[in-house]
Amino acid sequence: MPDVSSIEVEQLYGELRAEAEAGGYHLNPDQAMTRQLLNGLLVNEKRYGYPSCPCRLATGNKDEDLDIICPCDYRDPDLDEYNACYCSLYVSRAAAEGKAKIGSIPERRPPREKRLKTKTEKKAPTLTSLPLPVWRCKVCGYLCARDGPPEVCPICKAKRDRFERFI
Ligand code: SF4
Repeated sequence: MPDVSSIEVEQLYGELRAEAEAGGYHLNPDQAMTRQLLNGLLVNEKRYGYPSCPCRLATGNKDEDLDIICPCDYRDPDLDEYNACYCSLYVSRAAAEGKAKIGSIPERRPPREKRLKTKTEKKAPTLTSLPLPVWRCKVCGYLCARDGPPEVCPICKAKRDRFERFI
């Protein structure tokens, strides 16, 4: 296993915490667990060349692992539904403030065969066949395509209730 120093972990911790807070996200306040997960991310970065999810088995083929490079494609829906991402590295504001409990989080990532099938079948979407709704921040105009609006606008920090469905 590649060596990771505590200095590297501390550096990543500082960077990710600042980035997360600036974008309306929150790292898990359990510092020991968070540092362990960051250690896992750094090990994976050294091993594969990219920081794949520390709670999932990567293939080492970046193209196949793109959806689980941290932050993974599944973070936001898991935050919305379970107050934490699959590893619990990221948590919702309510969980960060101790107002929501974090339980076990089921794996949202589809099985490999399904992922490969979806990839080969994917056609360019038209405006009426978009795979996800588009949400618009009424305060600053930020647009994002996802199942629901984010907890906080990463640009102007307006709360979820200031979003409207755009498409
Ligand atoms: S589950 Fe959490 S830690 Fe794992 S890749 Fe997704 S966001 Fe990162």
